[in-house]
Amino acid sequence: MDALRDAAAAALDYAATVDDRPAFPTAAAVAGLAAFDEPLPGDGTPVAETLRLLATAGSPATVASTGAHYFGFVIGGVHPAALGAAWLADAWDQNAALPVMSPVADRLHDVVRRWLVDLLRLPAPTGVVFTTGATVANATCLAAARDALLERAGWDVQADGLFGAPEITVVVGAHRHSTLSKSLGFVGLGRRRVVVVPADDQGRVRAEDLPDVSGPVLLCAQAGEVNSGAFDPFDRIADWATSRPGRDAWIHVDGAFGLWALADPARTDLVTGLDRADSWATDGHKWLNVTYDCGIAFVRDPAELRRTFAAVAGYLPSGDGFEAMHHTPQSSQRARQIEVWAVLRSLGRSGVADLVRRTSETAAAIADRLRAAGLDVLNDVVLNQVLVRLDDDATTSALVAAVQADGRVWCGATQWHDAPAMRISVSSWKSEPADADGIAAVILECAARARADR
Ligand SMILES: *Cc1c(COP(=O)(O)O)cnc(C)c1O
Repeated sequence: MDALRDAAAAALDYAATVDDRPAFPTAAAVAGLAAFDEPLPGDGTPVAETLRLLATAGSPATVASTGAHYFGFVIGGVHPAALGAAWLADAWDQNAALPVMSPVADRLHDVVRRWLVDLLRLPAPTGVVFTTGATVANATCLAAARDALLERAGWDVQADGLFGAPEITVVVGAHRHSTLSKSLGFVGLGRRRVVVVPADDQGRVRAEDLPDVSGPVLLCAQAGEVNSGAFDPFDRIADWATSRPGRDAWIHVDGAFGLWALADPARTDLVTGLDRADSWATDGHKWLNVTYDCGIAFVRDPAELRRTFAAVAGYLPSGDGFEAMHHTPQSSQRARQIEVWAVLRSLGRSGVADLVRRTSETAAAIADRLRAAGLDVLNDVVLNQVLVRLDDDATTSALVAAVQADGRVWCGATQWHDAPAMRISVSSWKSEPADADGIAAVILECAARARADR
């Protein structure tokens, strides 16, 4: 137990001081990882010593993505409620596969399902399941969509597979996330066998270019383009879905971070029609700031999940309650709803809305400062994402390198309309509009350095 107390103390110390760390570990800290390069011990090593090595060599080499200065990718921090709940949940080590394996996981699943559907204003019976992340949440929805569309076309995918099945037209936007294609690939629908709808300058699907197809159609829309944060025109997409007799459409929405915009009542301009889809995927571990790994899949009719994911075995009881293993790709699974419950309960309805609003306002304020100082802001800052350019391609890449070398903040490189850009993603619960001046000042110092070095 002393070993556990020490590990808990080290974790607490890490959480308490992470804001003072460089946003990316120093070269010395990364070199210190050599401490792990030992042969597999022939005999065991004491637990306390093992955990101490993890803390002393591992902690300095972490990316401080839970700190207040990290704006890379769309990572998100960790809310204290999530961290504390994760500590307890790890001690419990519950298997959330079936209610009989964990009544607490079962009850919290029920509560969180109700809360999420209410908070995000989705249809009341919507089924909610947890996965490793949005990639698998997307795949979960796409598999359910595939099986539902093909059942309506007279084909049983689970029994007979896809060879010889009727065709589904898969429609995607030009700016779909790379992992949406990966998900389409591994559910057997193909990464390339898609109809691609052109996007506008913000990366939104151009509704006027939706294809005039009939038969089973799976349309993958997006809430939150990963660079610009833009939202597809959901109302027009939903109208298109029903606009032709004989078109049997399933609309899926990849909302890995953007779906949380539904929690902010002030953002109706972005989300109108989003509730008309058939399935939605999001992440808990990005904008909601719960611990990794937590994806969330929503399917309008939970029976569509069961059709795809039910497993039968003699030793599996069939009982009351929601059987997660019969509605997800996983069988055994971590009770990810525990951390989600803790954050939702701590923040409440207004707290989640405030998280969305505050981080988006911070992004907008950073964009304003940078624009005023002469940088190009490439996107309409409708959410928490900002894309900037400095002078030309080379100077923009030099800016990203200078920011990453500086270490006071961390932003990533991306490509926007085939040219380099720097992406600032404000996804941590720690971010406040009042931070914008300081963040912009660091970026502007780095911009001056990038220009001087050219
Ligand atoms: C991050 C992201 C994904 C993938 O999510 P993971 O949690 O990394 O699996 C999918 N779509 C979009 C729009 C994303 O931002």
